Amino acid sequence: MTEWENLIPRPTSWFLRVRCRSCESEQIIFSHTTHVIRCRTCEEILAEPTGGKAKINGIVIAVLG
Ligand SMILES: [Zn+2]
Repeated sequence: MTEWENLIPRPTSWFLRVRCRSCESEQIIFSHTTHVIRCRTCEEILAEPTGGKAKINGIVIAVLG
């Protein structure tokens, strides 16, 4: 199964605008990411996959549809 097939049957996913706790830069993160997401600026981990909804380590400042 590809990653995209995995994503399609889940209507309850969304994007989050997350602020890095270390350097305060902001990044858009998929709520059910299957990859560890690191800050583009300082490489702090912002989100980790859990098999479902990602564990968010940064500060969520907005939810985007
Ligand atoms: Zn950072």
